[in-house]
Amino acid sequence: MRLLIIGAPGAGKGTQASAIASHYGVLAISTGDIFRANIKGGTELGKKVKAIMDAGDLVPDEVTDEIVVDRLGQPDAVGGFLLDGYPRNLHQVSALDTYLSGKGESLDAVISLEVDPELLTARLLKRAEIEGRSDDNEETIRNRMSVYSSQTEPLIDHYRQAGLLVPVDGVGEISEVHDRIVAALDARA
Ligand code: ADP
Repeated sequence: MRLLIIGAPGAGKGTQASAIASHYGVLAISTGDIFRANIKGGTELGKKVKAIMDAGDLVPDEVTDEIVVDRLGQPDAVGGFLLDGYPRNLHQVSALDTYLSGKGESLDAVISLEVDPELLTARLLKRAEIEGRSDDNEETIRNRMSVYSSQTEPLIDHYRQAGLLVPVDGVGEISEVHDRIVAALDARA
């Protein structure tokens, strides 16, 4: 299975992505996690993206696309993948399409995790207390939300038109949302 999960900041993408990927035995790839690991490790990439992430802006496409293509080309991605946080704009959509079609592959489904916008900021501020992510502060959250609505939200229509969209209600217990995603994906198969 080749899957994407799309959702606003705070929608719970990361949490659901790991559990869904292990349920289907595919590799979970989170661009946000890759960037955070590089910042933590003090790599060149980490130095390049730190200020951008702290501001809540998007890392340049050429940087992000290359990381994803490289990761998807590794042996452990052969059995399928679930991409979390990528693509995030229409340019990245076509970069991914070009890469997959070059290998004669295509996506199976795009999970859209739907959460009332009013709940999102509260969730992120709560996570800030628990995880201490440096981009979970009010100003950066506001920018991440606006980047999401202007750049990422249009992807939902795009994938709906492509017949790939699987909308799932993201409000509820983690396990409830998980079960909804599995039920919705299994219903398509
Ligand atoms: P969230 O969805 O809560 O913002 P992520 O971990 O998915 O959390 O992303 C955190 C940050 O990492 C983004 O605000 C952005 O700066 C960077 N990032 C992650 N994925 C991408 C991407 N596909 N393109 C550009 N930047 C990205």
